[in-house]
Amino acid sequence: MDLIIKNGTLVTESNTYQADIAVKDGKIVAVGAGFDESGAEVIDASGLMVLPGAIDVHTHLAMPFGGTVSADDYFSGTRAAACGGVTTVFDYAIQRKGSGIVDTVEARRKMADPDACVDYAFHCAITDLDGGKLLDEFDAAVAYGVPSFKCFMVYKKEGMMVDDGTLAQILLKSKEAGVMTNVHAENPDLIDMLIAQFLKEGKTSAWYHYLSRPEYVEAEADKRAIHWAKAMDAELYIVHLANEEGVDAVTEARDAGYKIYAETCPQYLHFTSDVYKREDGRNFVCSPPMKGQSSQDALWEALKRGDISTVATDHCPFQSYEKDWGKDNFTKIPNGCAGIENLYPYILSAANEGKITFNKAVEVCAFNPARLFGCATKGALMPGYDADIVLYDPNKAFTISKDNMHSDYDHTIWEGVSLKGYPVKTYSRGKLVFDDGAFVGEKGWGKFVKRVSRKG
Ligand SMILES: [Zn+2]
Repeated sequence: MDLIIKNGTLVTESNTYQADIAVKDGKIVAVGAGFDESGAEVIDASGLMVLPGAIDVHTHLAMPFGGTVSADDYFSGTRAAACGGVTTVFDYAIQRKGSGIVDTVEARRKMADPDACVDYAFHCAITDLDGGKLLDEFDAAVAYGVPSFKCFMVYKKEGMMVDDGTLAQILLKSKEAGVMTNVHAENPDLIDMLIAQFLKEGKTSAWYHYLSRPEYVEAEADKRAIHWAKAMDAELYIVHLANEEGVDAVTEARDAGYKIYAETCPQYLHFTSDVYKREDGRNFVCSPPMKGQSSQDALWEALKRGDISTVATDHCPFQSYEKDWGKDNFTKIPNGCAGIENLYPYILSAANEGKITFNKAVEVCAFNPARLFGCATKGALMPGYDADIVLYDPNKAFTISKDNMHSDYDHTIWEGVSLKGYPVKTYSRGKLVFDDGAFVGEKGWGKFVKRVSRKG
């Protein structure tokens, strides 16, 4: 045995119990008691919770966007992940006209591989089917270990949007190939119409970012995507769901037995659209924007009911000077906020405060992401699984500040937010990568996660 974590309280998606964990060669080899400790490092986890590492299935590291590149690259982003108890990061590789799916993923994999401190995977965002040629590549992408694609229903001018016909083709082919189709659902024509109207009226503050993408703009696209998925009996995963009407549509489809899944993000669970009225409102600009209180309440209820399956971050931070480009014009603000290091601590703190159970926190941050996206050996504390383990101190008080985070950004929307409980150790495949506030991992340690398809 290499490592034994003893006397801790194990929390899984369905159970909470006392047990020891034995680790060898980066894998959990046994869960129980009375292990032979000779030659092993023994960690006493008395008073601590022992959790599977979180899986953040939505990040944009080193992402060219809004006239710049997001502030965290594969090193700083995964370093921050490790320090927040995230042991697997799913980044988005954006396919562009003229490139294939596997090409696109391989190019990003080359960037990530020397830098990543925890394991990583990619969803491929498809922006152009090349007259249908890309559909023939779905099986190859699945064989390569990338069984999930994203369709942007927005970002028309940026050349990333897929129209309904393309989305329908992708849904159909995905069903056949065992691929999960992810959608960013907002209505681009409505957004453009509202932006033009506000700019004409001289309404340029961050508040109008919200008003140009209000609840109904997101809800329409949620319902449209669900409509096509139902019609084609295909699986659908809605990323960063943030509005109440969309939650209702997902719930209704799931109640009718359709395989519709939704992700939300900590920023939608914590902040409302009121942040855009603040002096620093531009720092909170992301798409979709934070919504009103009733949407936030609906997200929490759906999370508890199980109609929201995952919580992930959409981590895409920009520096203050970049956010300042939009001081006098909200359309010039790079869209995106920080979150990768805050995901697990925030959701666990909510559990610690009694808002949800700890089992639910593990389910939405680790177990469900692994199952939905084919990480066969992650998301649970079981023999044969990777030793991606977080030790959590429920009694540790923590206040988030950019100074105690491990990213490369110069500000965070989470500044000053207090949490009840905090991770104290993170293991990535049995290797200690975060220890009591400090990153102790290694650049390049993280490996590409080859995933299994929806067909198994
Ligand atoms: Zn995103």
